[in-house]
Amino acid sequence: MPPFDVPEGDPFGPHNLPYGVFSIPGSREPSNRTVGVRLGDHVLDAGAAAHALGSPYASLLAQPTLNPLLAAGRTAWSDVRRALTAWVTVPSHREALEPFFHPLSSVTLHLPFEVADYVDFYASENHARNVGQIFRPDAADSLTPNWKHLPIGYHGRSGTVVVSGTDVVRPSGQRKAPADAAPVFGPSVRLDIEAEVGFVVGVPSELGAPVALGDFREHVFGLCLLNDWSARDIQAWEYVPLGPFLGKSFATSVSAWITPLDALEEARVAPPERTHELLPYLDDTKDAQDGPGGYDLRISVAVNGHVVSEPPFSTMYWTAAQQLAHMTVNGASLRTGDLYGSGTVSGPAERERGSLLELTWNGRDPLELPDGKRTFLEDGDVVTLSAWAPGPDGVRVGLGEVTGRVVGRDA
Ligand code: MN
Repeated sequence: MPPFDVPEGDPFGPHNLPYGVFSIPGSREPSNRTVGVRLGDHVLDAGAAAHALGSPYASLLAQPTLNPLLAAGRTAWSDVRRALTAWVTVPSHREALEPFFHPLSSVTLHLPFEVADYVDFYASENHARNVGQIFRPDAADSLTPNWKHLPIGYHGRSGTVVVSGTDVVRPSGQRKAPADAAPVFGPSVRLDIEAEVGFVVGVPSELGAPVALGDFREHVFGLCLLNDWSARDIQAWEYVPLGPFLGKSFATSVSAWITPLDALEEARVAPPERTHELLPYLDDTKDAQDGPGGYDLRISVAVNGHVVSEPPFSTMYWTAAQQLAHMTVNGASLRTGDLYGSGTVSGPAERERGSLLELTWNGRDPLELPDGKRTFLEDGDVVTLSAWAPGPDGVRVGLGEVTGRVVGRDA
């Protein structure tokens, strides 16, 4: 199908226009990597198109990574998006742009930005309560006392963030069940996923200067689906008292497509009602900032093509703006390319849980898949997260999928 003839209602129509980085296989890798914008099942070479049309944004877009565009800031983000929208919708541009479209199936997609720091949160109350009940069954409250007062997070490993499609090698490590006399070493036997949304920081902040709740949209460029692969057996033995370490750091997968926040205006929703009074720097109940802080993203989790869960992002207790405010309230600065994960997205219903840990209740209730029962992931399993959000005039905004296959170390 020609690039401009996107079917009406296509979730990757001209209302979406997510950004990625692609190359043409066989050509001079990696020097031919460049920024691409997705339209339907095609990719527009955005830098080449900008050059051909004499656009002032050509130098921002003819880059092997999104980082220069991320650093350019909100005015540039809006201007570039406005220009791209005009290019792909005004018929007089068709002839000039046609040569710069490539079928999606003919290109290689790369990690779209250089990841600076990586932080992962824990913002779903349903997820936190489920995990609390599984790991601390004797505790009076499944939530820890701090949970409703601050968005809990930890610093992860940015160097192992990989693009969708990258195989994930089953990690080895120490594990010790409470009844075992001593720890053993070997491949994880409780390899899991966490369905999350990742937020991508564009504009840096100054060391020592917190970022206010209301400045979220000045700093954050967009979002993507994120799979926080987790080895539950390694995690359970190592995490007290300093939190996740090797059970998480072996790989984190992100989509090849970053959806700009500007494409998600219609998806903004109020977060769940706050049950505890918040300190002023986190309080989003007093004024609505510039609109509600939640996003209505409908996520789908598939194992080997079989949908096992549909987590609703709108149920997340803490918003991305609150997470950004909290992450910087001590004066820690932001860098272009910082990535922070929302935390596992789990809704209130059983089929809305964003991890196998919860879906199988720590292996007690195996999932029935067409290819057999599953508690945790087996070698060869392919996990795919996909999502959509409400867009303008009832059209869906598709998020780029994130997929990955588990392989044994000797595979
Ligand atoms: Mn996580």
